[in-house]
Amino acid sequence: MTSPVPKVFDVAVVGGGVVGLAVARECAARGKTVALLEKEDAFAAGASSGNSGLGCTGYDAPVGSLERKLLRRSIQLHQELYRSFGLSHEHVRKCGSLVVAWNDEQHAELPQVLDENRLAGDNEAILLSAQELREVEPALDHSARGAVLCPYEAVVEPWLVPMGYAESARRFGANLFLRSRVASASRDANANVWELKVENSEDASLGRSQTQKLLTDAHAQAHVRQPLHQTRDDVWSSPKLRARVVVNCAGLWGDELERLTKEPAAKSASFTIRPRKGQFVVFQAPKGDSIPRLIIEPVATQFTKGVIAWTTVYGNIIVGPTAVEQASKTDRATDIETVQRLEAWGRKILPGLRNAKVIGTYAGLRPATEHRDFQVSVSRPGWVTVGGIRSTGLTASPGLGEYIANLVDGIFEPERESSTSPSTSSSSMPGVSAAAASPAPRPSQRLEPVPSLQTLANEYRARGDGCVTLYGRVHRVTHPISSFGMETV
Ligand SMILES: Cc1cc2nc3c(=O)[nH]c(=O)nc-3n(C[C@H](O)[C@H](O)[C@H](O)COP(=O)(O)OP(=O)(O)OC[C@H]3O[C@@H](n4cnc5c(N)ncnc54)[C@H](O)[C@@H]3O)c2cc1C
Repeated sequence: MTSPVPKVFDVAVVGGGVVGLAVARECAARGKTVALLEKEDAFAAGASSGNSGLGCTGYDAPVGSLERKLLRRSIQLHQELYRSFGLSHEHVRKCGSLVVAWNDEQHAELPQVLDENRLAGDNEAILLSAQELREVEPALDHSARGAVLCPYEAVVEPWLVPMGYAESARRFGANLFLRSRVASASRDANANVWELKVENSEDASLGRSQTQKLLTDAHAQAHVRQPLHQTRDDVWSSPKLRARVVVNCAGLWGDELERLTKEPAAKSASFTIRPRKGQFVVFQAPKGDSIPRLIIEPVATQFTKGVIAWTTVYGNIIVGPTAVEQASKTDRATDIETVQRLEAWGRKILPGLRNAKVIGTYAGLRPATEHRDFQVSVSRPGWVTVGGIRSTGLTASPGLGEYIANLVDGIFEPERESSTSPSTSSSSMPGVSAAAASPAPRPSQRLEPVPSLQTLANEYRARGDGCVTLYGRVHRVTHPISSFGMETV
């Protein structure tokens, strides 16, 4: 445990995915006492363990949406944030992407893609003819008709980023708890405090179903090991946790947590999670210069960015994700038909893959909802709902952390006002700690450098238990891009 445990936390964050970790870090950095509760035995084990690990610029997010706004804000924050996590250019590769047209219809859409990039503020985006495209990306099949070059999209090591948030949050004083599932929430209106009922996940079915399902996937089975209790974060062992503000960052379970709350929410905050599965195929890096240097994207549709191909920071080539809605929140199996389709597409657009070996597959579930945009609001007194962070949450996490911490500050703010004048606000918060009411000047922080990918891989292979040491702690590697990479780099 990082800090002494207060009787009542200023903020309880439910969910230790990349978004919850970013929120916990930002609130702790602003001087709040923070508890983060994660039901699994590792952080970043939900949607955050099944993404593509790409840094998006948000040009294809709807104009005026919160998602677009937070993606653009995040781009301003990434460099300094990643540096403070001890990440280097080896862990985050700013290589740019190509939105490639493969037929006449897509070719006709490229000028619009260019306009969208420029509208988003990326004036360096350019249109490439088929000939120019071959020069820029020789690994692509010559049937490509042209492309838009988006210079700011990036390939990120997708597990190291949430781990950076977690360690940074701890050092800002946040208390992070694993295997601690929030089973219900009720509010003591007199004390203006939320009481969360917490169960240890060993006793709860929700906690294990996801990893069991993952292990039914034959491909994943070889690569995802689960040494339980390897991380050194504590379990919240008391049945109740009290906090003045709760932030629901429960991802795929966010709608269920909202319903478990014995307090009606504002109508605008209602959403239903519709898990959207994305499957991926992982190729071993082919020899020579047939490896794509840029991220190869199709022209996006309103529903999805489409199937992408890119080289990970470890050098493997990935083709995916698909986007298919399903009812299950835990079924992350890949299916042979989809895998074969992705494999064939990869070998078609990247001739260098024709003889390359497929070393595995994986799938992730996007916490999509019936709404296109992120759903973030103060939905009840002292309760922040964060829902539908479906396709860009890794990239948008710094902006989300900042935006949500501002909402939290706004909940505490009336208290400061009410000490001088009576307040009628329903979110007035008597009993706010001095730290929360008058945030300390934000301390600067630099974590120690993250080891090179080769060093991480050496340890991963030597240990053989699916774990590596980061910032002096042993962590289970939850992201398949990282575990495949560490096995093969
Ligand atoms: C196929 C796919 C591709 C993607 N590609 C990209 C990409 O290239 N770039 C990008 O920026 N984003 C991408 N994303 C999106 C990104 O991964 C998500 O937006 C992000 O991971 C969401 O993070 P989260 O913290 O909101 O959710 P999660 O990571 O799901 O975290 C929620 C956490 O809450 C926990 N939890 C749930 N209920 C409870 C409870 N009652 N008590 C305690 N804990 C609980 C869960 O165990 C989970 O760990 C992709 C996603 C997918 C699935």
